[in-house]
Amino acid sequence: MDCIFCKITSGELPATFVAESEHAVAFNDIHPVAPVHVLIVPRVHFTDVAELAVANPEVLADLIQLGVRVAELKSTGSFRLQFNTGAEAGQTVFHAHGHITSRTPRS
Ligand code: AMP
Ligand code: ZN
Repeated sequence: MDCIFCKITSGELPATFVAESEHAVAFNDIHPVAPVHVLIVPRVHFTDVAELAVANPEVLADLIQLGVRVAELKSTGSFRLQFNTGAEAGQTVFHAHGHITSRTPRS
């Protein structure tokens, strides 16, 4: 399967991880839309968060906990966690992932 996020989570493609957990990794989005924009990506491949939630809620909980940790590391307070689900909603990479964004980076 030709999946860019599988290649990143497995180490086949280089990426600098901001943080990692048992089931997920976090790295900066290549096209940031906010001063803090980090992707949280499960190590297992599911098409989107809806599939992941049904198939593996333990991994989803771990993913969200990683997102909260990233937000605490990278921002001073408020953050957003967004899961684009489906092409019409703007999903372009069909390996489940969340976007952590914040307008208040920690310096
Ligand atoms: P989505 O549109 O929700 O599917 O989000 C996919 C995100 O992945 C976009 O914000 C892209 O900028 C980002 N992206 C795509 N390829 C890479 C990459 N190699 N490294 C980091 N971010 C990427
Ligand atoms: Zn994948």
